[in-house]
Parts: sequence; C-alpha cells; structure tokens
Amino acid sequence: MLRRDAFSEEHELFRAQVRRFCEKEVEPKIVAWNRQGMTDRDIWRRLGEQGFLGPALPEAYGGGGGDFLYDAIVMEELSYRRAHGLMTTVHTSICLPYIASYGSEAQKQRYLPPAIRGELLVGICMTEPAAGSDLAGIQTRAVRAGGHWILNGSKTFISLGQLAGLFIVVAKTDPQANPPHKGISLFLVEADTPGCVRGRKLEKLGLPAQDTSEIFFQDCRVPATALLGREGTGFKMLMEKLQQERLCIGVCSIASCRRALDDTLAYVKERHAFGQPLAAFQNTQFTLAELWSEVAIGQAFVDQLLRAHVRGDDIVAEVSAAKWWATDLQKRLTGECLQLHGGYGFMDEYPISGDYADAAVQSIYAGSNEIMKVIIARRLGLG
Ligand SMILES: Cc1cc2nc3c(=O)[nH]c(=O)nc-3n(C[C@H](O)[C@H](O)[C@H](O)COP(=O)(O)OP(=O)(O)OC[C@H]3O[C@@H](n4cnc5c(N)ncnc54)[C@H](O)[C@@H]3O)c2cc1C
Repeated sequence: MLRRDAFSEEHELFRAQVRRFCEKEVEPKIVAWNRQGMTDRDIWRRLGEQGFLGPALPEAYGGGGGDFLYDAIVMEELSYRRAHGLMTTVHTSICLPYIASYGSEAQKQRYLPPAIRGELLVGICMTEPAAGSDLAGIQTRAVRAGGHWILNGSKTFISLGQLAGLFIVVAKTDPQANPPHKGISLFLVEADTPGCVRGRKLEKLGLPAQDTSEIFFQDCRVPATALLGREGTGFKMLMEKLQQERLCIGVCSIASCRRALDDTLAYVKERHAFGQPLAAFQNTQFTLAELWSEVAIGQAFVDQLLRAHVRGDDIVAEVSAAKWWATDLQKRLTGECLQLHGGYGFMDEYPISGDYADAAVQSIYAGSNEIMKVIIARRLGLG
C-alpha cells in the first residue's frame, strides 16, 4: 500500500500507542461485548485515561490539543480491529465538538472534562420514528416555561442510548417557523433528568455491541441553560458539523475494508480446492486485485480530505462523495470477500460474516447515501 503522508511522526507515535492499547485491552473483549450487546463503562474510562477520547479537543478541558488527524487515528485503529461497539466516533468526533464549538463556558466546564476522561458518554438524538433523512420534519417539541424548557417527543436508533449520560437533543422550539428548519434548536439533556426515559436497546443486523436505542422525552424539564447555542440555530449547527461526521464514516469504512481485505488475502493463501490454494485461481486474483485497487484509491481520497479538513476547507461535497463511495465499496467488498471464504464466510467463527453484516448500516446512517448524492447534486447546481 502507498505510504500515507497525511500523518506526521508524532501522529504515528500516537498511532503506535493506540495500536498497543487496542491489542491489549480492546481486542480480547470484543467477543464478550458482542455477546452482551454492549461495551462496558470500564473500557471507556481506560480510553479516557490514555487520552484517546479527546485528542483534538482543547487542553483547557483535558483534551490533547491536537488536530483531527489524532481522532482519525483512533477511529482507524478501532475500525481495523472491528471494535465497532466502541462508538468513540459518535462520542469524540461527532458529539463533543458541538459542545466545544457552541457551548457556553459553563457547559464546557461541566461536560467536556468528564467526557474526555470517559466518565460521561455523550450521544446525539436527531432521528425520530417518523423523521430520519427529513430532519426538518421532526416532532419533538421544546416549550419555554419560565426559567425552563419542557421537552416532549420520541427519538429512535440512538447510538450509545444505554450508556450515554448526556444527550444532544434536536427539538423544535418554533413549529411555525418558515422554512421549518429555522425553528430547530439543540439542547443538552442529562440522561438522569426526570422525563428523559431510555427505551429498548434495539435488536439489529450488525454492530452487535453498539447500544442503539429508543429515547423518550416525557415532560422532561431542563433549565434554560440547557439550550446549546442560540434558539433557532440548531439546524445551522448540525449542518456545520456534518462535514466532520461524514468524513468519520469515510475514514472508518476504508479502515474496515483494509481489515476484511487483509484477512481474505490470508485466507485464500491457506484454503485449498482442486489441489491448489484458492489464491491460484484467476478469479480470486482478479477479485482481490480489483478490491485492493479500490481501497488504495479510496484511502488516497480520504487522506486528501483529512488534510483539507484540518486546513479548514469547505469540502462538504467531497466528504459526501467519500461517504457514499467508501461505504458502497465496503458493502461490495465485504460481500466479495465473504464469497471467497465459501461456506466458512457464512459462519460466525469467521469475522468476515460480521464484517458483511456491519457494513450494511454504513450507507444508511450519518445521512444516507442517497442524501449524500442530493447534497452533491445541489452543489453542482442541479435541482
Ligand atoms: C445503527 C444505527 C445507529 C444510528 N445512530 C444514530 C444516532 O446516534 N443518532 C441519531 O439521531 N440517529 C441515528 N441513526 C439514524 C440514522 O441517522 C437514520 O436511520 C438515517 O438518517 C436514515 O433515516 P431513516 O432511517 O428515517 O430513513 P428514511 O429517511 O425513511 O429513508 C428511507 C430511504 O429513503 C431514502 N430517502 C429519503 N429521503 C430521500 C431523498 N430526498 N431522496 C432520495 N432518497 C431518499 C433514504 O436514502 C433511504 O434509502 C442511527 C441508525 C442506525 C441504523
């Protein structure tokens, strides 16, 4: 594989540290987490102690003060090890930046240090049973009542729904607003607030250790200070942060592809049929040569986007392209690698079966791949 040049020597030292930690403390526990349907709080605290939960956040709140490439390293190493249940991406690279960018000083002081230490996990509640892609169509309401806001509504598919101690909640503060997205605001709701109710941990096709859940708000009363940023600017904040969210998916997707490919390359060299290794069949060679090429191309694009994102460039269309292309590749690649494993590929004891199941969601969340194409088309002046 082409030598990657997006990362400095310091980044690579950090990567070595993350890798050692993953080998020692993450990999041995993945099977147990998958079986219990959740990770545990202990590993999050350990990640926090190592400085892996906020390497790009300000040092003033306990972060590492580095750039987004440090976040990318943690995501890549965890994805390569199939530790998908550890949704550090959601916590570190998606949720905490909202607080760091838009929070009041009091909010930052209250939430960032424990979140970076891994003592307080943070999830984001956007999706509702009747509104996912169409975010402006959400029904959750926040009504001002003196010094408080009262929230009512249902959210679903919320990552870290069982483990999070804090939710960033997307709610309508002005249902009459025109256009509707101007009536959306964000709130920081502590999970133990009366009226904030954790629902079921949902059964699903893949990501077995990820506690995707329903969350309900039933006359949930939060102080006025729970508002994040200014009233009515929720949609704008979400749009500003989606560039990073989508880049994260591209980063994780390519790392997952690399792992599935590496394991399949090893498998086809060992497994024999008709008196020769599977690797000797031209079909195997061409399939893996094509997939390897696509991963190399995807990695080069993602690395270029990482550099541009760190520079602060507006690359919304490009990250949308990376998100749909890399996740489509991951779905196709895991299917073809599974095929090369034959019947063993369908068995749980071979990780490729899990890779195939885990890949399915990548084109759905963080904005579906169809929505990515809508965004690109708009940027091209279409529609
Ligand atoms: C495992 C998992 C974890 C998740 N974690 C979170 C989380 O932490 N927080 C959170 O808020 N949400 C989360 N989600 C929700 C996720 O973001 C949504 O599922 C996603 O945005 C799609 O919304 P939807 O499921 O309502 O599908 P819909 O919006 O109903 O879409 C259904 C289909 O229609 C297509 N479609 C919709 N609109 C258009 C259009 N304009 N043009 C073309 N096609 C269109 C979609 O692409 C899709 O194929 C998670 C989902 C999963 C599965």
